[in-house]
Amino acid sequence: MKPLTEQEIRAAFVNCTKGEAKRLSVPRDLAERPWDDLDFLGWRDPQAPDRAYLVTVLDDQPRAVALRSPSAAARPMRRSLCSMCLTAHTGGVSLMVAPKAGKAGKQGNSVGAYLCADLACSLYVRGKKDAGSGARLQESLTLEEKIERTMANVAAFIAKVTAD
Ligand SMILES: [Zn+2]
Repeated sequence: MKPLTEQEIRAAFVNCTKGEAKRLSVPRDLAERPWDDLDFLGWRDPQAPDRAYLVTVLDDQPRAVALRSPSAAARPMRRSLCSMCLTAHTGGVSLMVAPKAGKAGKQGNSVGAYLCADLACSLYVRGKKDAGSGARLQESLTLEEKIERTMANVAAFIAKVTAD
C-alpha cells in the first residue's frame, strides 16, 4: 500500500469520533514501516493494550478502524485461524471487536473478527514473518491471489463496520 502520514491516518477513522481519532496513538515510526509489503497497517495502542487499530486504502481512500481486543493474557492458547490472512496461530489470534460507524455504533452495535493478534497479516502472507510450522495452509494459490484474498477479507470487514 502507499505510505500514509499520521494526518491521513487520523482523518481515515470510520468508527470513532474526531476527538478520539485525534487523541489515539499512531505509531511514531511510520516512515520505517514496510509499506510495500503491507496490505494494511495494524498496531496496538502501547498505552492501552486492549485497543488496536488498522488502516488500509480502499478505492484510493484511506480507511481506518478502531478495535477492541482482550489483552494477551486473556487469549485462549488453542490454535486458531486469522479470518483475514488465514494464518493459524497458537494463542496468537485475538477476537477484535469494532464498534460500528455512525448511528449503529452509538446504539452499541459492533462487528467482531478473529485477527492475528499482532495485526501482521500482510507479513505472514508474504512469508516475511514466521508463525511456526503448519501455520500457513498448503494452497495452490499464488502469492498475488493470497494477497487479493486478504485484501478482500479486510475490505469486507470494513464494509461491515460502515454498513447501516
Ligand atoms: Zn492474520
